Amino acid sequence: MSITFDTYLDLAKKGINNKEHRVYAEGISERYQKILENADSRFKFPELLKRRAMFCKYKAINELEKYLIEFDFLFTRRGGRIIWASDHEEAKKEIIKLLREKGIQKATKTDSKTANELQLKETLQNAKIDCLKTETRVGITGVNFLVSDIGGLVICENEGNIAVNTSFPDIHIAICGIEKMIPSLADLDKFLHLFAAHTSNEMLPWNTQIITGPRQENEVDGPKELYLVLINNKRTEVMKQVKQREIFHCIDCGACTSVCPVYKFIGGEPYGGAYVGPVGSVVNPFMMDFSHVAHQSYACTLCKRCTEVCPMNIPIHELILQNRKESVRRGFYVTLDKSKIKQLRKMMIKRTAMDSWLANQMLKMNYKKLFGNQKIFPDLSQRSFNVRYREQNTIK
Ligand code: SF4
Repeated sequence: MSITFDTYLDLAKKGINNKEHRVYAEGISERYQKILENADSRFKFPELLKRRAMFCKYKAINELEKYLIEFDFLFTRRGGRIIWASDHEEAKKEIIKLLREKGIQKATKTDSKTANELQLKETLQNAKIDCLKTETRVGITGVNFLVSDIGGLVICENEGNIAVNTSFPDIHIAICGIEKMIPSLADLDKFLHLFAAHTSNEMLPWNTQIITGPRQENEVDGPKELYLVLINNKRTEVMKQVKQREIFHCIDCGACTSVCPVYKFIGGEPYGGAYVGPVGSVVNPFMMDFSHVAHQSYACTLCKRCTEVCPMNIPIHELILQNRKESVRRGFYVTLDKSKIKQLRKMMIKRTAMDSWLANQMLKMNYKKLFGNQKIFPDLSQRSFNVRYREQNTIK
């Protein structure tokens, strides 16, 4: 779903007035502050660890085609089946088709960003498939990492309900974006440490499963059938961007969202999808309709807090700036802004224009809509910098 600028403003206002969200956002922000205090102290060389993890992800994203082929070969060799989905509609269609083929009327689904991206709960409900918490023949889960050199899925959790859904049902359907790839099992420890340190204040996730296929002949548990729905859904559009593709180094720790002042005030709804906060501002214009959601990067205050806390050293605020540049390049800016900026420029380069008694009124009137009711356009200084400087330095 793309949220247009006007809807964005309405939802943002709703978010600002939503006390429940404010309490929730304050809560996660406080919790994250504590996590952050400990995160780096857990490691002897935290920066080295981050740089190594960053390099692994850089390799994976820049050579994704190679790793996807290797992953596909190894995953299917052990009996798993990959369903490639070019967009969310195809992914939803394939999941429902599979469930119908197997005569499934009840499925278990655990929460994941990819499931939210597909609006899976609603999709299952519309297909008259009950979505339960435990004890069904099918478990649908997300995935944290895809490990290329073993053709394996890595699922991390801190509760245990995902393990129930991957071990007991006959069929496990994992859903995941193609960007979750890492090159090798030897790299995994770096990501697990960073992920746990930045999400749950631990050294390692409480429970980590590495799944390399359905139940084999000599194994006693695990699903009889394993499917992986691998989703593109315009991720390759982001990857085409030389700079913005770096956002896919993300390990989904949520740190940047926890500290984002914009998210804190407006909540997740105005982003119009599964990706909210700073990551949403970078990927949404490419994954949705650029002409509709280009404004998301303009909502950023560029405080840089997201960049400071990111364990993968992603320069998120710079990527948001790149999106602004891209939206201008594509011509997605409001023409009204352009004319106002022209007018403002004209006024700013000529002091006599600012001295006119009409200047303040005109500016306030013209920018009222842009500034909204919450802000007031400041008054112009009555004397120019030149005059004040001369006065202060007693220059005649
Ligand atoms: S961009 Fe960085 S801070 Fe934000 S969720 Fe991803 S890894 Fe965490």
